[in-house]
Amino acid sequence: MIGGGIAGTTAALALAKIGADVEVYEAAVRTAAEGGWVTLGPSAMTALDQIGVGERIRAVGFPVVEARMVNTVTGQKDRLSRYEPGHRWSSTHVWRRDLLSVLRDRLDQVGIGCRFGLAVTASEVSADLVVGADGARSTTRRLLGNSTPLNFAGQVIRYGHHPMPVPGLPRHVLHFWTHPDGVIGYVGDDRDGSFWFSRHDADAPTGMVELAQLLRPLRATPAAAVVDMSELSDQYALHELDPSGIWNSTDTVLTGDAAHAVSPAAGRGATSSIEDALVLARSLRQADTIAAALDVYTATRRPVAEATYRPMPGHRPPRPTADDLFLDEIVRK
Ligand SMILES: Cc1cc2nc3c(=O)[nH]c(=O)nc-3n(C[C@H](O)[C@H](O)[C@H](O)COP(=O)(O)OP(=O)(O)OC[C@H]3O[C@@H](n4cnc5c(N)ncnc54)[C@H](O)[C@@H]3O)c2cc1C
Repeated sequence: MIGGGIAGTTAALALAKIGADVEVYEAAVRTAAEGGWVTLGPSAMTALDQIGVGERIRAVGFPVVEARMVNTVTGQKDRLSRYEPGHRWSSTHVWRRDLLSVLRDRLDQVGIGCRFGLAVTASEVSADLVVGADGARSTTRRLLGNSTPLNFAGQVIRYGHHPMPVPGLPRHVLHFWTHPDGVIGYVGDDRDGSFWFSRHDADAPTGMVELAQLLRPLRATPAAAVVDMSELSDQYALHELDPSGIWNSTDTVLTGDAAHAVSPAAGRGATSSIEDALVLARSLRQADTIAAALDVYTATRRPVAEATYRPMPGHRPPRPTADDLFLDEIVRK
């Protein structure tokens, strides 16, 4: 496994569960600061249960049960449940560092070796199967002959956190306020406080948007109550990858952002990476050869990635059912 981020650790755990002997190489040190947070979708929570960490992730995170969208120009309002049919749990909000720490502890628990602080390339490792879980700037992707460039998604983002939730806004509800230049997002919890972001259009990845300009739309929302007391992240340029290039050979395969990075606007990158892990393990368990399994995996996951990358207006990208992610039954067979 090249990469010990969300995609790499979950794939390692899923492959170990079907009996594979797995080793993980992670370029960063184990204690590297992992900023920010993610909201994992219901399918990710089903998948995390399958690899033995769902309960722990729910304990360090908090549930997100609904999304409420307001168009601040037209006044149009919308609501979306953050439960999905067939999946037991709602979306879950978690600090990225807590998510990775739970996943990496689980590697230790099930005896998967993880070499931290060691960057490797697919040509340097010897294994029946090499999984490139090395993120949006994957070298494994390049070595597979996939030269698709990472594109600037046209927006920058800044995150803020404050230890108290915004008074008067319902807890565990993701609020989005769209405005002509971007989107403000907010979710709050009594234990973990306020999490907000401002995503703003920008001409170029190197062009900084002035802080005052970035925060102005936020000041017109109830989240304004915590903005000046919040801890602010740096400003990040957002990138995405067209997922139509090569994903696998007969013995090497891409998962997570290495195959299909999307802007956080999709809210799906981490969730998709976790789904990939389970689908890869199921494909390997069910096919006669590794090469056949990798073709099945790519054929299953690429349409989902393409629909997420460029969704058809009015259509939600397909979501895997719980059955698509279960390992227990096929492990017993
Ligand atoms: C600002 C932001 C907010 C987001 N919010 C959400 C959200 O709310 N919900 C959601 O579902 N998704 C979200 N995402 C997307 C999500 O974070 C990513 O899709 C997810 O982290 C991808 O995981 P990954 O393991 O594929 O890649 P990464 O997290 O990039 O991990 C790749 C790992 O590989 C390692 N690596 C790289 N090269 C090598 C090498 N040669 N050898 C060894 N190791 C190597 C890296 O050190 C890294 O640890 C967000 C993304 C961003 C940028």
